[in-house]
Amino acid sequence: MGRYKRSLPWAFNQFINYISQDFAYKSDAGFCKPSRIIFCLTLRCNIKCKQCGIWRSPKKKELSTEEWKMIMLALKNWLGPYRVQVAGGEIFIRDDIVELVRFAQNDNILIGMVSNGTMIDNEMAKSLVNAGLSYIDISIDGIRPETHDFIRGVKGVHEKATGAIHHLKNHAERENSSLSITVATIIMGYNMDELIDIVEWTEKEGLNGVIFNPLGPACDSDSQWYEKSDLWPKKQDLEKLDGILDKLIEMKKSGAKILNTEDQFLAMKSYFRNPSIPRGNNCRVGVTNFLLSCDGEIHLCFHMPSIGNFREPLRNVWNSEKAKTARKMIKQCRYECSPGNFIYRRSLIKEIQRYLEYR
Ligand code: SF4
Repeated sequence: MGRYKRSLPWAFNQFINYISQDFAYKSDAGFCKPSRIIFCLTLRCNIKCKQCGIWRSPKKKELSTEEWKMIMLALKNWLGPYRVQVAGGEIFIRDDIVELVRFAQNDNILIGMVSNGTMIDNEMAKSLVNAGLSYIDISIDGIRPETHDFIRGVKGVHEKATGAIHHLKNHAERENSSLSITVATIIMGYNMDELIDIVEWTEKEGLNGVIFNPLGPACDSDSQWYEKSDLWPKKQDLEKLDGILDKLIEMKKSGAKILNTEDQFLAMKSYFRNPSIPRGNNCRVGVTNFLLSCDGEIHLCFHMPSIGNFREPLRNVWNSEKAKTARKMIKQCRYECSPGNFIYRRSLIKEIQRYLEYR
């Protein structure tokens, strides 16, 4: 089935959700539905990325395959056509990923994933394509293997991640699949000289695009994290970084498949100059997000307390007093959030444009 045909009901639902969420946000009414559904399947990880604390965080009990399937169906009953992103940790540490993708596909639920790519060999790529995966973001932080391996903390992971991309692409072409393959890159001082090359490589490989996020704090960082980080740009490099961000904007205008918006790159310029300014005063995650942690707790933002558990009716959790309290906390959030893709909300026109252009 073609990409557009397959995701049209979801895209229509996104359009309705977008309008009702805007209204709900302004009026503090709770009648909208969430549009960004994320399952954090595991906190386990097989590598040791410098910018991420999840791999060293205390582990929690994980829901079973059957419990995740039950949640997928409950969400479908409540939301209608929807798309779920599965993330971690590294999700391929679990042995049920293909089964979950196949289950979602059989029930017309769009399913995408974020992975470091290191556990996707030829067989796994074939299984994912055949199971009906909708999209995958593979992390690539450097065009040079040394850069990526240094950031990701393990030697040889660049080769495995690029290998995963090639396997997925080959099988998607062979099966005439609508799988969207995107590169996800974190912008940092350490890799800024390679960002343009990553976009060019993505184009050369015929992938569906590249999405950037600025370097942010790890889950266990303190408030001065950026001063201690060897990945953060140095003061004397900020003008150069501005030029690189301008070049990315220019490349996007000339047709390069970069999924970020221009104003997001502009927001990154001021963020890299002063990351400690709270940027959450317009944060919409309270009306857009429905995040499930690996133990089944439900959050609007992982920095905010749980609003309920997967065993309760999901609609009731969304409309609960705990959810209302969390939404109030979000409106007053002082956390130093980066202008990454999680917090960033595109205009409706840009959302439609992104859907038409990429996935
Ligand atoms: S920490 Fe959460 S609530 Fe606060 S600005 Fe960031 S995404 Fe929004």
